[in-house]
Amino acid sequence: MSKEFQEVFSKLTESEKKEVTKSKIESLIELVPILLERVCEKNVNELATLLKQSVLPSICSQTDDEIEQLFENIDKDKNLLFDKEVQEKIQRFIEQRFERDKQVVIQRTSDISKFVSLMGQYLNDAITSSGSGSKNVLNIKEKIQSIDLTSNGLIELSDLQTELINAASSIEAEMNTVSDKLQSGKTQVQELEEKVNSLEEELTKTKNESMKDHLTGLLTRRAYNDEIKRIESSYKRHNTQYAVVFFDLDFFKKVNDTYGHECGDVILSTFAKILEKNTRDHDIVGRYGGEEFVAIVHFNLNRELLQYLKRIKTIVNANNFKYKEHEIKVTFSAGVSIRSDHESYDSAIQKADMLLYEAKENGRNQIKLEDGKTI
Ligand code: GH3
Ligand code: MG
Ligand code: MG
Repeated sequence: MSKEFQEVFSKLTESEKKEVTKSKIESLIELVPILLERVCEKNVNELATLLKQSVLPSICSQTDDEIEQLFENIDKDKNLLFDKEVQEKIQRFIEQRFERDKQVVIQRTSDISKFVSLMGQYLNDAITSSGSGSKNVLNIKEKIQSIDLTSNGLIELSDLQTELINAASSIEAEMNTVSDKLQSGKTQVQELEEKVNSLEEELTKTKNESMKDHLTGLLTRRAYNDEIKRIESSYKRHNTQYAVVFFDLDFFKKVNDTYGHECGDVILSTFAKILEKNTRDHDIVGRYGGEEFVAIVHFNLNRELLQYLKRIKTIVNANNFKYKEHEIKVTFSAGVSIRSDHESYDSAIQKADMLLYEAKENGRNQIKLEDGKTI
């Protein structure tokens, strides 16, 4: 066996070596048919490219220097492809590539499922509002649920992203409209509230005014009748003792005739002030008619009631009413009934009216009580 043959033999593959031994080949020329069975260079080049592609991860973008280096060497010497060690290396790279791609797929699948679950939450929130924007979102939600992540899920997700952005924009627009409406509604409500408040104030003012007699400032007859209902219910519940006092100015027509109507007004107003000044908080006094007044006077002891009546009579008798340069003497007559001596308020006021008539009949400038007493 020549030295050259020895050298070539050492470079043969295991199967070629077996073939050489089996066929008892000893010369280089006899090796030619065996070597001709080897793949031609053009095919080897394609094989090398194919092998390189198969070891490089397709999904994972990471490149591997070791792989690059190996295939650079193969490029230079295609025979390396038939080297056992090189083949084992390629085998290992293929296994590694499979492992790496698998990891990337697992990672991406988990990203997609996180994205879908987040979208689900967002959509649930958005769907609770109404309008066409949220209707779009409902459709999109159904689409997300039907995505098959095992096939071409990524392409569908990208289309969905566009749809979601559009839906989000229309929801945003809807929300702006709603908030504009709320804002203008709020302003209108505020305006209405202000109007209601000022109307309420006016109403209270008007009501108070209608309760007060314009000339004397005392309760009008209507307001007095309202107050009587309150006093009556208190009388029935707590037995709060009270007297009904009917006042009527004496010969008032004559005052008007002598000094004029305006003078009469001044006297009415002054008399009203005297009554009001002597009326306590829980008592009331009203103008019943032209020159007629009525007072409800609460008392515990008869003495208190008599003191009140005497005080009014003394003030009126001891003073003159003033009008311009005139000093006018005016008297009044009154009838007094005690509520507890009667079945009802109506009967009590009738009695007071009757006693007032008696006082007039009896000569005026006097106060008549039920027990026959005259002040
Ligand atoms: P008597 O002592 O019997 O009560 O006599 P009188 O003149 O007071 O009674 P009469 O009922 O005859 O007259 C009441 C008068 O009171 C008639 C009316 O002009 C006058 N009068 C009623 N209301 C007013 C008012 O608001 N202002 C003025 N100035 N006079 C009034
Ligand atoms: Mg009268
Ligand atoms: Mg009178």
